Amino acid sequence: MRIKEYKEIRIFWGDLKSAINPDTIRGKLSSELITERPFNEIQKNIHCHAFAFLNQVHKAEGKIIIGNCSDFPMLTHDGDYLITQEKNVGIGILTADCLPIIVYDPVQKIISSIHAGWKGLTRGIIKQVLLQLQQDFFVKLSDLVVMIGSSADDCCYEVKQDFVDEVHLHYPHTKAFLYTSGTIKFSLVKYLKEIIIENGLSENQLDVSNFECTICSDHYCSVRKTNKDPNRQLTVVSLK
Ligand SMILES: [Zn+2]
Repeated sequence: MRIKEYKEIRIFWGDLKSAINPDTIRGKLSSELITERPFNEIQKNIHCHAFAFLNQVHKAEGKIIIGNCSDFPMLTHDGDYLITQEKNVGIGILTADCLPIIVYDPVQKIISSIHAGWKGLTRGIIKQVLLQLQQDFFVKLSDLVVMIGSSADDCCYEVKQDFVDEVHLHYPHTKAFLYTSGTIKFSLVKYLKEIIIENGLSENQLDVSNFECTICSDHYCSVRKTNKDPNRQLTVVSLK
């Protein structure tokens, strides 16, 4: 677990130790969970009084959170990103090899949490979030900071040719694949970097300082390493 504090936000980058089985919280209200582990620990560290998590479906759709969220039913509404301007509401993502992404605008004081696997990225989740931030909240792309947690990386993330073919349908020039002695490996981070640049951000707006490969590190849930383990790590961000 790492707690990162910035002028306007606090982030909880979770790991194996604070991981949860999504089925144990699905449908519960945020107010019921606030005293339960690991949410009590997160609440203490990032000072949020409620949480919102979606039922992640690897698509490019999400929700805007308005209100204090104490009656938000966890993992019930489908979607892969949340956006909010509410203070002290923890918006979050569950992952085990997919990429947790936080987008933050210190000028408009707005945050987004994004669950991004290869499918979500290929289906345009980044473009959709950036469009919504610009259209509904008057965000300027140059003001944004994009931060990532840990995910599967090209040291370990082996894929097959049909995966490559599907990505190439949308991004034929991507350099996110690594071809070595008969195997193909994929980097979600390299893919994300290409996508944010294509959508008008610059590389130095991407903070990768919290990134590790979830497969070869011992600190994270990884479906590719232990596919029977239902647990997922949490990433939660909250505005001060
Ligand atoms: Zn690795």
